[in-house]
Amino acid sequence: MTALMKMDPDIAGVISGEERREADKIILIASENYVSQAVIEAQGSILSNKYAEGYPSKRFYEGCEYVDEAESLAIERAKDLFKAEHCNVQPLSGTIANLAVYLTMLKPGDTILGMNLSHGGHLSHGAPASFTGRIFQSYHYGVSRETHLIDYDEVRTMARSVKPRMIVVGASSYSRIIDFGKFREIADEVGALLMSDIAHIAGLVAAGVHPSPVPYVDFVTSTTHKTLRGPRGAFILCRKEYASKIDSTVFPGLQGGPFMNIIAAKAVCFKEAQTEQFREYGKQIVRNAKALCQALKEKGYDIVTGSTDNHMFLVDLTNKGITGRDAAHALDRAGITLNKNVIPFDTQSPYVTSGIRIGTPIVTTRGMREREMAQIAEWIDRVLSNVSDKSLQKQVASEVKAFCTNYPIRPEIRNEG
Ligand code: PLP
Repeated sequence: MTALMKMDPDIAGVISGEERREADKIILIASENYVSQAVIEAQGSILSNKYAEGYPSKRFYEGCEYVDEAESLAIERAKDLFKAEHCNVQPLSGTIANLAVYLTMLKPGDTILGMNLSHGGHLSHGAPASFTGRIFQSYHYGVSRETHLIDYDEVRTMARSVKPRMIVVGASSYSRIIDFGKFREIADEVGALLMSDIAHIAGLVAAGVHPSPVPYVDFVTSTTHKTLRGPRGAFILCRKEYASKIDSTVFPGLQGGPFMNIIAAKAVCFKEAQTEQFREYGKQIVRNAKALCQALKEKGYDIVTGSTDNHMFLVDLTNKGITGRDAAHALDRAGITLNKNVIPFDTQSPYVTSGIRIGTPIVTTRGMREREMAQIAEWIDRVLSNVSDKSLQKQVASEVKAFCTNYPIRPEIRNEG
């Protein structure tokens, strides 16, 4: 960063500070990851200089021969990775990708049925605070009060009653396998289109450790920056019959010039995700989540749904007498960063919450395994057993920092070593 340090020491300082934070702390935020140096180099490249409105070989600007190649590689690799007929790699974010699918297939006022935000769904699945909940008539299914698993009977009953034009399946905080086949049956029964948003689990789908929705759904949307371990952005998969409609909703419908540096970085991420090493990474994410979940359970923590099948789980702290907010603050001061999270049927507000969400994509990227998860559970328990003990938090933070020096933050450093 020599040029940046010279030109703008303030921003250089911000970046170094963030680099230190990422190195010194244990990050358990389920939606984040640490990308490879190769992804960083592509997204930090001069490809960001180039305007390329349009699609490969159909651009509105001259001079697109190199960026065309980057976008074509990204598209082909994504299609190959997810076994899809068509891919659009231009959406700037998961929310935009979802909006693009809705706006392609629905008219304002049409009915959508998505997962309840407070049961694990995402804002962009028709929540009232999101424009997706204002443009469309949106209804929500949730999880069972007893098991906290998706209540497929409720999905069916609601679908029969509200007759949605589109059903949305996918979540931001749901720890179990999603049965896309069952959603297909329900969608077919009521004549609805089916979209799956795999933002959280895309890396697990790519690695083959979560079933793929591709054979079952009409549209798949995903971000690239969570378990998939790519740059911040998104993509859409669909069958050929919808390809040109989806493409024209993304551009010119919703976006202008695509971020060609990010598209190149997506291509790198898809290439990385095609490797045996990445498949092993996906498996280890799940093994780590199960191990951390089990270790906390043994210490008396109440796990929503009792366990996990993927990269994350929710802890209900009600029996510990602490709120999610207080737990998250105390843990962050102790060098363990995660987020407070509503649990299904939470009685606390979303700013306070009764739960925390724990995810293992980053610790797995750093090379930690089951043994390290046991150690992390010890620290979490120590801190949460005395949430207001600031000197304990300081002590744990220094232990965490020393521990973290053994785990590099770039995946390929570990691979080369
Ligand atoms: N979909 C799901 C399931 C998500 O969890 C998220 C983000 O957390 C998104 C979509 C939105 O992605 P973005 O933040 O890129 O808009």
